[in-house]
Amino acid sequence: MKKNSMNIRSVLTIFLVVAGMAAMSQTKPNVVILATGGTIAGAAGSGVQSGYTSGQVTIDAMLNAVPDVMKLATIKGEQISNVGSQDMSFEIMLKLAKRINELAAAKATNGVVITHGTDTMEETAYFLNLVVKTDMPVVLVGSMRPSTAISADGPLNLYNGVAVAADPNAKGRGVLLVMNDWIHSAQTLTKVSTTAVQTFMSPIRGLIGTTAYGVNDYYRYPDQKFGLKSEFSVEGVTKLPRVDIIYADVDMPADLIDASVERGAKGIVIAGVGNGNMPKAALDACSRASKKGVIVVRSTRVATGTVGRNVECNDDELGLVASYNLNPQKSRVLLSVALLKPRKLDEVQKIFMDY
Ligand code: ASP
Repeated sequence: MKKNSMNIRSVLTIFLVVAGMAAMSQTKPNVVILATGGTIAGAAGSGVQSGYTSGQVTIDAMLNAVPDVMKLATIKGEQISNVGSQDMSFEIMLKLAKRINELAAAKATNGVVITHGTDTMEETAYFLNLVVKTDMPVVLVGSMRPSTAISADGPLNLYNGVAVAADPNAKGRGVLLVMNDWIHSAQTLTKVSTTAVQTFMSPIRGLIGTTAYGVNDYYRYPDQKFGLKSEFSVEGVTKLPRVDIIYADVDMPADLIDASVERGAKGIVIAGVGNGNMPKAALDACSRASKKGVIVVRSTRVATGTVGRNVECNDDELGLVASYNLNPQKSRVLLSVALLKPRKLDEVQKIFMDY
């Protein structure tokens, strides 16, 4: 009798331990990592050479370099592409957006991490910020040093990126970028150094927060429209309209603007000097383009500051749009998405003020 009760007690103890372990593993958030390539997946012949090739290492190999990441979340990895982000395309960006929307609709994922090259990270981050229909954390991570380098920065960025994606406090802050301990908003971040590890900055509006070995600290919510509040959708979209960026400088050839219109651009973004300015001949070409129905946005080649309406040129008279907070590359993304349907000038101007 005594022996039997001992047996029942041991079986019960084992059952409780196993059930407890199962419950613990179930309480870990589910994070999906969508890998696209970049230097974080790059490899070189030695740890100290500057030459390397992006997009060589798979998501499984990247995760093997950071086993501690498994303590933060239950992770599932998917390889979306494996390219240097100089070869990122709207096609891959659409694939990413649609996959995130699928994951959000299935409601089994708590956060998404996207591994990505740093060169065009701001375009992808901002594009996703406009078109993903979720408030779960969507976090881009990359690295400046390839996976084979001495002091590779990818593993800690990946660890911190997963920590933010798994964190309920990161919800509702839009698409984020986590690199070198800083958490940026897709709306503000920009790459400022070709080589430095601290390459991303968020001028004017500042950081969303910081993270240190997975401990996150948040400072603000973005005040622009994004995610669930965004009016844009990529459902059924396979291609974006042509929008060109033209760089302004001293004596710039204004016929580049006419050529862009002739080539079928639906929108043009000018990387203007100063407050979105350009020489008189270029302004005239922009006005000609506008009269033909092409939407022309004045942005700036200057790293920080806004481009306001009617400051040094008469946007009302010339039929132009001011980019406000967006640099040329993000202006191009917003205009491409906005022009998925025909829009009036003042409607596009409002979009640039809201997003
Ligand atoms: N060219 C690389 C890329 O964008 C640079 C990087 O990832 O840092 O993929």
